[in-house]
Amino acid sequence: MVSFDNTEVAFSGKTNSDLKRSYWLFKVISNPTIVSIGKGLTNFALAIHFPVKWIIKPTIFKQFVGGENIEECSRTVAALGQYKVGTILDYSVEGKESESDFDAGAKEIIATIARAKSDPNIPFCVFKVTGLGRFALLEKVTANEKLTSSEETEWARLEERVNAICNAAAEISKPTFIDAEDSWIQAAIDNLADKMMAKYNLNAPIIYNTFQLYRKDRLQFLKVSFENALAGNYFLGAKLVRGAYMEKERERAKDKGYADPIHDTKTNTDRDYDAALRFCIDHVDRIGLCAGTHNENSSMLLSNLLNEKNVRHNHPHVFFSQLLGMSDHISFNLAHDGYNVAKYVPYGPVRDVLPYLIRRAQENTSVKGQTGRELNLIMKEKARRKN
Ligand SMILES: Cc1cc2nc3c(=O)[nH]c(=O)nc-3n(C[C@H](O)[C@H](O)[C@H](O)COP(=O)(O)OP(=O)(O)OC[C@H]3O[C@@H](n4cnc5c(N)ncnc54)[C@H](O)[C@@H]3O)c2cc1C
Repeated sequence: MVSFDNTEVAFSGKTNSDLKRSYWLFKVISNPTIVSIGKGLTNFALAIHFPVKWIIKPTIFKQFVGGENIEECSRTVAALGQYKVGTILDYSVEGKESESDFDAGAKEIIATIARAKSDPNIPFCVFKVTGLGRFALLEKVTANEKLTSSEETEWARLEERVNAICNAAAEISKPTFIDAEDSWIQAAIDNLADKMMAKYNLNAPIIYNTFQLYRKDRLQFLKVSFENALAGNYFLGAKLVRGAYMEKERERAKDKGYADPIHDTKTNTDRDYDAALRFCIDHVDRIGLCAGTHNENSSMLLSNLLNEKNVRHNHPHVFFSQLLGMSDHISFNLAHDGYNVAKYVPYGPVRDVLPYLIRRAQENTSVKGQTGRELNLIMKEKARRKN
């Protein structure tokens, strides 16, 4: 049985000074007031073009981001690979809205696939559809509204970009995730993902859709997606996550007066997440599963299910995944016990990855509880090394 308590394994890739840096960083961001002030100051500095790179890059960027470009991530890829932890290069530039930005975004994702080609330390690639097309267009398609003729052309270009990426992934058999986003654009993303899976998953799960189990309807949607895959004779690729946009989802539902799509309690989200894991393992011959989670219970459950059902730890259809800089006690201990593990390694120019970093800082305040866990583990390892 895997244990997540072994901090020696968890932090084997970290020097004493790395540990010290992580300790201070998590300590600072555990304070919600500091994070809130930091967010305000950062946004202000960006607005007045005040340079922020000198403070961001050696601190929070170094903890959570692989580098400013693919090349700069090579050290992280090799360092994780040394401990059998894979890398998923995640181009984390957000908020672009022009066609030329979207073309450049698609080119960059295809470059990550090319980089992954000959590197066994990069088992997956990933992209976000909002990096390839306008948010408002995805919203209109999700709402089933009629597109104007210029929007039809725009939509065709978005589909071409998605197809070019999936085709590049399929040509080298590199499994690739399509991230899930806000519920009011998700149906458009799901339809694209289904189309790509039907086209490229005939012999193996190559394209993976993402299922956010904090949504009340997603466990059922996972089952329907599987039925469709069976009927279409293709493999289902399923990345299971709880979901990252809960506050935004609840606020919008309240503002616009529709039923909250998110489970009323964390317990219900956990229940559906674990049921989804069970469902995927019950059909592991036809489903490629990636558990994208920092939750110890769910990670333990998946590891137990593999044992129970006699599925080998390194079955190519089963992966665990966490974000760089978080929950190394889960990633490194699972990898140490022979499970397939890969970290999302975000990258991009400092200014462009700031929204990602602000989300990480907010998620790690003491309010959300994650930091307590990270800090305790770091302190435990520091104490162990002193003895
Ligand atoms: C490798 C990887 C890939 C990811 N990809 C995506 C993606 O494509 N799209 C995406 O949206 N997110 C993605 N995420 C983020 C993910 O959805 C979660 O936000 C994050 O991982 C925290 O959930 P957890 O399972 O790790 O841990 P936990 O700490 O156990 O769960 C926290 C989560 O539970 C849910 N929750 C919390 N409180 C409540 C409540 N009161 N009621 C109902 N639900 C509640 C929320 O989803 C919250 O984020 C990804 C995460 C990882 C590690």
